[in-house]
Amino acid sequence: MKTKVGLLYGGKSAEHKVSMQTAMAVIKALDLEEFEIHPIYISEEGQWVKGPQLQGPVSSVKELEFSQGEALPPTALAPTLFQDGQDKGPFDVIFPLLHGPNGEDGTVQGLLELLNLPYVGNGVLASSAGMDKVIMKNIFAQAGLPQVKYVWFIRSEWENETEAAYDQVERELGYPCFVKPANLGSSVGISKCMNRSELEGAFKEAFQFDRKIIIEEGVSAREIEAGVLGNDYPECSVAGEIVPKVEFYDYKAKYEDGDTALIIPAEISEIEYSELRDMAIKAFKALDCSGLVRADFFLTREGKLYINEVNTMPGFTPFSMFPLLWKHTGVEYPQLIEKLVNLAIERHAEKQ
Ligand code: ATP
Ligand code: MG
Ligand code: MG
Ligand code: MG
Repeated sequence: MKTKVGLLYGGKSAEHKVSMQTAMAVIKALDLEEFEIHPIYISEEGQWVKGPQLQGPVSSVKELEFSQGEALPPTALAPTLFQDGQDKGPFDVIFPLLHGPNGEDGTVQGLLELLNLPYVGNGVLASSAGMDKVIMKNIFAQAGLPQVKYVWFIRSEWENETEAAYDQVERELGYPCFVKPANLGSSVGISKCMNRSELEGAFKEAFQFDRKIIIEEGVSAREIEAGVLGNDYPECSVAGEIVPKVEFYDYKAKYEDGDTALIIPAEISEIEYSELRDMAIKAFKALDCSGLVRADFFLTREGKLYINEVNTMPGFTPFSMFPLLWKHTGVEYPQLIEKLVNLAIERHAEKQ
């Protein structure tokens, strides 16, 4: 019997487009002898549309948007919720290929928990804690993981005491600093600031995307990433380095210019790698992750390693860092997908 995979992609998030590219790639890589693919598209407005079972790869993102498809409330994914029959329903596992809010942040995961469906990747807690950079950093701090200094504000604090907020950033962090929406990814809404006027612009920009923002001390450092895979016995991939040709690894560099070099394995020492691996696993456990994460680090010239963040649903095309890291570790893309599906089913079985 084939495994029926419900592929959830698109999503109501600034990372919608990224998710569409990923969905195309995953569809192409899934072995149709083993898997049945059932696409479920989430529009940018948040509408769910179920497409027909796929018979093979698609050639464009447009084909995956199903404007004529059957609109359904998300709960319609639940086959047996209100039945006591034996029918397992249309899906054996859901693969939420969603980045950012309303997908990577525990909301969809919560729905899938309620529907009692196995799903790939992190659970509710890890997803939501990992999406909010402030909560994530607080948890990492508590776990003793080294990080750059940070402060954070909600919009009302900034509106009521605007100058005091800037003063605090200058006093506690200085320049350069990075201003980020607390809940996003793909560098959307992030600015690097060198002075007060840039800081003011950056606050405004970040608050367009979120009611909460985080400001971090800017470090001049190499950017090293590693993938973690597993449930209760997580394993770490080789490390990779990102070398952006621009000021920092912004949205354009990630998805538009393709001008960024990925060096895998990263040229770091044995000692640096083992420290990084231990930190990646520690971060995975601190957030109670399962399935996968990509952990992002800064390595300074002095050899000091800081964790920047983890991504609970990292970029996942065959050219994205996470799959490439595993390829170099010995796990090819189709195998990686299979592993994730199996980890999802295994975790679900353990909960029952
Ligand atoms: P993604 O989820 O796609 O990895 P993100 O939106 O969560 O991205 P970050 O990874 O936090 O954003 O930051 C994006 C990029 O900005 C980093 O890869 C790095 O180039 C730069 N950057 C972020 N924070 C700092 C910092 N404190 N010091 C120096 N550079 C930074
Ligand atoms: Mg991120
Ligand atoms: Mg991300
Ligand atoms: Mg990052």
